[in-house]
Amino acid sequence: MSLTAARRATLGALADSILPHGGALEPGASDVNVAGQLDSYLDRCAPGTRRTVNLMLTAFNLSSIASRHARPFRLLGPAAREAYLIDCEKSKIRQRRETLIALKALILMFFCSDDRIKPLIGYDGQPYKKVERDPGVVELQVMQPDHGFYETADVVVVGSGAGGAVAAKELAEAGLKVIVLEEGEHFDRRDFTGAPPERLRRFYRGNGLTFTIGVPTISLPIGRGVGGSTLINSGTCFRTPDFVLDAWGMNRDDLETLFEDVEETLSVAAVGADIMGTNGEVMDRGRRELGYSGGPIRRNAHGCHGSGVCAFGCPLDAKLGMHVTYLPLAVRAGARIMSGCRVDGIVIEGGRAVGVRGSIVDPETGAVQRDARFEVRAQRVILAAGAVYTPAMLQRQGLANSSRQVGRNLRIHPGCGVLGVFDHDLNAWKGVMQSYYVDEKLRDGILVEATYPPPGVGYSAGGVGGKGSDLKDFLARYRQTAAAGLIISDSGTGRVRATPGGGLLITYNLSADDLRKTLEGIRLTSEIYLAAGAQEVHTLLPGLPAVHKREELSWITDGKWTAADLKLSAYHPMGTCRIGKDARSSVVDEFGRAHDVAGLVITDASILPGSTYVNPQITIMALAARSARHLAAELS
Ligand SMILES: Cc1cc2nc3c(=O)[nH]c(=O)nc-3n(C[C@H](O)[C@H](O)[C@H](O)COP(=O)(O)OP(=O)(O)OC[C@H]3O[C@@H](n4cnc5c(N)ncnc54)[C@H](O)[C@@H]3O)c2cc1C
Ligand code: SF4
Repeated sequence: MSLTAARRATLGALADSILPHGGALEPGASDVNVAGQLDSYLDRCAPGTRRTVNLMLTAFNLSSIASRHARPFRLLGPAAREAYLIDCEKSKIRQRRETLIALKALILMFFCSDDRIKPLIGYDGQPYKKVERDPGVVELQVMQPDHGFYETADVVVVGSGAGGAVAAKELAEAGLKVIVLEEGEHFDRRDFTGAPPERLRRFYRGNGLTFTIGVPTISLPIGRGVGGSTLINSGTCFRTPDFVLDAWGMNRDDLETLFEDVEETLSVAAVGADIMGTNGEVMDRGRRELGYSGGPIRRNAHGCHGSGVCAFGCPLDAKLGMHVTYLPLAVRAGARIMSGCRVDGIVIEGGRAVGVRGSIVDPETGAVQRDARFEVRAQRVILAAGAVYTPAMLQRQGLANSSRQVGRNLRIHPGCGVLGVFDHDLNAWKGVMQSYYVDEKLRDGILVEATYPPPGVGYSAGGVGGKGSDLKDFLARYRQTAAAGLIISDSGTGRVRATPGGGLLITYNLSADDLRKTLEGIRLTSEIYLAAGAQEVHTLLPGLPAVHKREELSWITDGKWTAADLKLSAYHPMGTCRIGKDARSSVVDEFGRAHDVAGLVITDASILPGSTYVNPQITIMALAARSARHLAAELS
């Protein structure tokens, strides 16, 4: 077991206080042994995850001892526990509130994922029709080396996500010998089953527990596996808005063909009425009522049955991530994909990148396999490890950083959730997970998206206010609840720093302007739900009661909220090796070539010159295709 007896008792006591037996939903946390489930789950997690949860429990206990109750939480009586949790929720000490929110999110995820609870809240868990896989989807061949190796290629690509996969396919189809090195495991539809915690553990970096450090702490989940974050993303496909391209000084006409090619390869199409689900329908109703612009989201899916679990891997391979599109096409054109290969250095000779080195890791645990080193030599090195890991790799070697911009300018699109509760059943989990958008205030940096994660996860989890009977009442009305996420085009930025010992630190403080935009976004989303007929709207702002009518919307924007009051998550890290013409203020040129290091090209989200305002995968892919085509022409 991963937890000491005392920590496990603390977890059990907390779970019971948050979800006691009885009330609108009879079973409590101890009836389904949430603490025991979480403890044995931690046994299967990476050591870093165990450390994080242990630390949270220690911090929670210490803060209880330091409070007016002067004893560890587990030793308090029921009334004192209740009083302490209320103190925590209102505490001016941010860490005290955030620790409680994080532990509560874990507890709720395990509670709601339990097979005994799911039917009680009305979630059948398998709302999709299991069908045979589309025969048009090509099986992907991936090599998983178990010993060290030395290889040569024309181009070696580090990372197999949106940026790496597209580059690999373009280069292989141009006749070049391409090797893709991916640290994660190769998963396919057969792996995409089971409860959300298990899927978080397997398909997400750090078992899903990755955060930015700053005010507030922001959850920043990142995918890990062949296909990168496209394995577990929502499949939303927006082209870069014209006003963004103009601001970046990019030629819209040049990119048009690239966008078309990417969209064709990914079968991008708008969500149809048959799989929209009520979560999208209520947003459609609300935005029409208000006359706001929006519509069904365009997605990279084919044969989607609206099971609503896209963020945990598509069980049908209907979502056309890199592992079922660009990577199989790259392999068909001769590329080799190798999983479990973590690159830890770029080989530099005469100031030029000539290859990469690294270690073979256990793809599931990430543990380095001793004496299993590899080296791949190539004419060009493409870094596509994502906007967090690419800059960290460069920083460790002090490469490509004469501008001192490597790791800076991190944008993440901070986001939060809003819940609308209706007077009738919606069963909103049936349908595409992210199905409908409202872009009325896109130019102001606010994009609203109807997004319904499985119960107990994401917006529906740590965010839900209350505990005890309030929370039970809320869960009992789960069938009547719609959920939306809003993302903010951040004007503030954060930073990625490699730390000694191979670690890294992501710092990010929400700027005052982004706080304002977030509150406006919450207000806009609440307005849409009220216009759609919601009885009440939960904004997840601490202390703010549910909003029932339009006149109450001003509570949101007039309240004296600070950044520390927001419960944010972010899914779009970008910008940490930005494109630019001037080598003094940017890291790569318009074709992703590092200004400072010959032979080094970057094609992932790190090169984006600023916020995309919309979900970024199509932008990343189009720019990766452009760089790869340019490189192919150079090499031929
Ligand atoms: C839950 C979630 C939902 C999202 N939903 C959407 C959406 O609906 N629409 C959208 O446009 N965007 C979405 N995104 C964002 C989108 O998926 C990413 O912006 C995009 O995948 C980034 O592409 P990338 O190539 O930069 O990185 P990634 O796709 O993350 O790929 C990087 C790869 O590099 C590997 N790697 C890292 N370090 C090393 C190393 N040292 N050696 C070898 N390999 C390494 C990683 O394991 C990973 O597989 C979502 C993201 C998440 C997490
Ligand atoms: S909703 Fe998502 S997970 Fe479900 S079938 Fe469609 S693409 Fe796949």
